[in-house]
Amino acid sequence: MSRVSGVQVRKRGMRWVLAAALTLYGCGPQQQDQRLDFYAFGTEISVTLYSVTAKQTLLATEQLQSHYADVGHNWYPWRRGELHAINTAMRSGSRVDVSPRLAGIIRRAAEFELISGGRFNAGLGRLTELWGLHEISATPSALPDNADIAAILADRPGAVRIDWDQNRAGTRSDFVMLDLGGIAKGAILEDSVTILRELGITDAIINIGGDLTVLGNVRGRPARIGIRSPSNRSPIASLSIDDGETVVTSGIYERFVEIDGRRYAHILDPATGYPVDHSVSATIVHVDPVLADAAATALIVGGADEFDALTRAFGIDVALLIDSSGDVRLTQSMRERLHWIE
Ligand code: AMP
Ligand code: MG
Repeated sequence: MSRVSGVQVRKRGMRWVLAAALTLYGCGPQQQDQRLDFYAFGTEISVTLYSVTAKQTLLATEQLQSHYADVGHNWYPWRRGELHAINTAMRSGSRVDVSPRLAGIIRRAAEFELISGGRFNAGLGRLTELWGLHEISATPSALPDNADIAAILADRPGAVRIDWDQNRAGTRSDFVMLDLGGIAKGAILEDSVTILRELGITDAIINIGGDLTVLGNVRGRPARIGIRSPSNRSPIASLSIDDGETVVTSGIYERFVEIDGRRYAHILDPATGYPVDHSVSATIVHVDPVLADAAATALIVGGADEFDALTRAFGIDVALLIDSSGDVRLTQSMRERLHWIE
């Protein structure tokens, strides 16, 4: 499943695309609606700004582009940026300085690991590598060795195994490798909101590969988001998103490897070391994009059995989970807000 919105994502081949003035809808003479397109960390990003000045557009473009480039380099463990350096230092038993923003995200990841009873775990990079689920590796030809999976799991790696001395990180674990993929988009949405708000932009939709945050409203009306069927991609429902809310969807169809004709998804169950196959997608609406992102990943791992417990643990009112047989679990608030399409 993925979301659709008023913002349509266009396919572009270029690494960075900055676009494109949009239509003018009854704004003041100095103000226009603008859509900016970026491509970073393998994801299409579109930012639609409503009733903004040329100066706001220019500054937003520059600052967002620079932030996305920075994050693409420094928050991805398989590129030689800051997260790679942190993992390398911890692996050799050293302590390492972590920038305040990244330290804050890693600490939140540890908090979500505790809240979710370990369903969310941002310290499983070694498992991701074993399954060949990171982008640099070639597609594996065989399943990982169970002994290798067991060796990693026996060490109980996780962000909670990191001990901090101020913003210096270290670990006694031999197998912790931070992979922030389950939380990074939420953090980038949060940073994008900060950038836009500081420029005085009050109405916008930031859409990072389908996960999106709404600021203000769309020409006086709440933004409406569509939810698609995981099986045939046709729209099945829509819901209104209020000022400051984020919608995040995790889906096992998003990334996978194929081994012996079978697909293995990119979301791993930290208890078994195997990719999840019982749940297909989880959608969450919440005012905290970082929490929403972590919780969506955790809900996929927990599945239908843990849906109630996990939504309670994360303090989430609006959530939906579709399992692999097509059954849908919904919170009461999601039920009330969703409009099913016939
Ligand atoms: P998301 O699309 O937010 O559900 O994130 C999926 C990504 O999170 C994967 O590509 C991995 O980088 C990472 N990941 C996989 N399994 C887990 C897990 N159980 N907890 C946290 N992050 C995970
Ligand atoms: Mg996530």
